[in-house]
Amino acid sequence: MPPRQLSTTSGDYDTANPPEVRRYLRTYGLTPPNVETYETQAQRCLKLLSMKPTPIEKYQYLTHLRATNVHLFYRLLADNVRELTPLIYTPTVGEACLRWSEIYTQPEGMYISYSDKGHIAEVLKNWPYDVDITVLTDGSRILGLGDLGVNGMGIPVGKLALYTACAGIRPEKTLPLTLDLGTSNEAFRNDPLYMGSRRPKVTAEEEREFLDELMEALVQRWPGIVIQFEDFKNPFPALERYRDNYAMFNDDVQGTGAVIAAGFINAVKASGVPAKDHKAVFLGAGSAGVGVAKQLVEYFMKEGLTEDESRRKFWFVDSNGLVTNDRGDKLAEHKVYFSRDDNQGRQFQSLARLIEYVQPTILMGLSTIGGAFTKDILQRMARINHRPIIFPLSNPSSKSECTFEDAVAYTEGRVLFASGSPFPAVRCDGRIMVPGQGNNMYVFPGIGLGAILSKASSVTQDMIYASAEHLAASLNEQERADGWLYPDIRRIRDVSVIITRGVIRAAQENGVDRETLLRGLSDEQLDAYIKERMYDPSTEVEKVLSEVEQLETTASG
Ligand code: NAP
Ligand code: MN
Repeated sequence: MPPRQLSTTSGDYDTANPPEVRRYLRTYGLTPPNVETYETQAQRCLKLLSMKPTPIEKYQYLTHLRATNVHLFYRLLADNVRELTPLIYTPTVGEACLRWSEIYTQPEGMYISYSDKGHIAEVLKNWPYDVDITVLTDGSRILGLGDLGVNGMGIPVGKLALYTACAGIRPEKTLPLTLDLGTSNEAFRNDPLYMGSRRPKVTAEEEREFLDELMEALVQRWPGIVIQFEDFKNPFPALERYRDNYAMFNDDVQGTGAVIAAGFINAVKASGVPAKDHKAVFLGAGSAGVGVAKQLVEYFMKEGLTEDESRRKFWFVDSNGLVTNDRGDKLAEHKVYFSRDDNQGRQFQSLARLIEYVQPTILMGLSTIGGAFTKDILQRMARINHRPIIFPLSNPSSKSECTFEDAVAYTEGRVLFASGSPFPAVRCDGRIMVPGQGNNMYVFPGIGLGAILSKASSVTQDMIYASAEHLAASLNEQERADGWLYPDIRRIRDVSVIITRGVIRAAQENGVDRETLLRGLSDEQLDAYIKERMYDPSTEVEKVLSEVEQLETTASG
């Protein structure tokens, strides 16, 4: 028997495989005899899923399905994005990471340890596939759950599943990568089931040297590889160090900034107030708040304002009150850019007082203080503005600065709203109002695919900004008429094509595209090119069948 010549190795035991394929794969007789339709398969899967009583058991079932029938898993996911994403990603993945060493059954992705330093390239050789994209974490800040060490593997695995489902990056071209650099989590270090090294977390300096070697080894083995950093406790040093020389980005910083900017662009448009007349109060001046605001500064500059005018549109509040130059404390470095001196020496005792002083059109929450946008605050925003822009972005829902229901009720349904966590739709004056959710999964798949297809040598700020602009522009007429700020997540594959095109165009403008052939394509041609390269699990069985038929014709001819 000749070696297998199929382009894919997954789905060998798919009950949808016709007899010819089963014979070729020598799986004939190894699966039940019926050739099943996808509909039948999906019916069984969804039934099995509903029988699992807890989210974590559903997560485990879906993990098992991906390992045993990858195409079926992705087809099911694509058809049920809204229902299944919470089970393979947040919030369930958080619980999976907390309990990773307890629920572990099978390997996924790669683990590289600090003790592998000096030999990282050799370890990478063990990965059997060609890789287009990797998501890597050191597990040091998993979601809001702290340092989970190698248990953080759930994050790269889940995130890459979304790259495949939302942007059609082939599953075998993705590499989930977890760095075992020790952990500050003492409970884990003392847990016999924990599967990482017992050493305390390495120093920042040791981590940098390790990452230097890793980045070099990754591009040596896979020259076009796109590298996404995720859930690092301090994301900034690596981002600054590698962003110009590698096709890398950090989704916590850049993806978040882009997705919020997209909702913001649509909110400003819907508000009817010209960009130059907006003013924003931010509750919370952490890395997320400042990161988001920097992206918005870019928006105002594209609208024709100077950098200084744009920067002056923001008033930040942290746990010590309004962030000002004359406050008398030493400001953290990241706050200095937005720090103000126009408060005439006033210290605002409350958010309400500050709102009366600033008269903002925009109120953003990245403070982790649940309920901070009270009835009084929301009503003040509604008095000042015809369409107040209010984004309570803290996660999870319990930390959100307000609920969608309250935001609608206290603004008489006039609010332009997006949150970090999901909220149910509400009825107002006989209308169904749907909240926007600034979910990163709107943008990172398209950023990744755009960087892969353009063979970008780096992921530039313009490429990130293009992802925001194109997400904002991707809404259809119905969605706009209904007042949505983000498109229906069920259209994510179409949305990803639009974002991917925008990212490729920006790469071309910046001259970082090494695939220069795409420069000559029209937008329609580029869209067709992108779609053609997207993995479509629904055609996989047919594709394999035609490959087998062709091989047999060649053999007998
Ligand atoms: P962080 O670094 O802890 O920042 C929190 C900020 O809130 C700090 O500036 C803090 O002040 C301020 N703060 C705390 N208590 C306050 C109070 N009582 N009044 C006013 N300000 C107060 O957290 P982060 O990483 O920036 O994240 C913030 C939130 O954003 C998190 O809930 C996270 O889930 C959310 N987030 C959402 C998205 C999304 O929607 N896609 C993405 C990323 C993050 P000090 O500086 O004085 O400590
Ligand atoms: Mn993250």
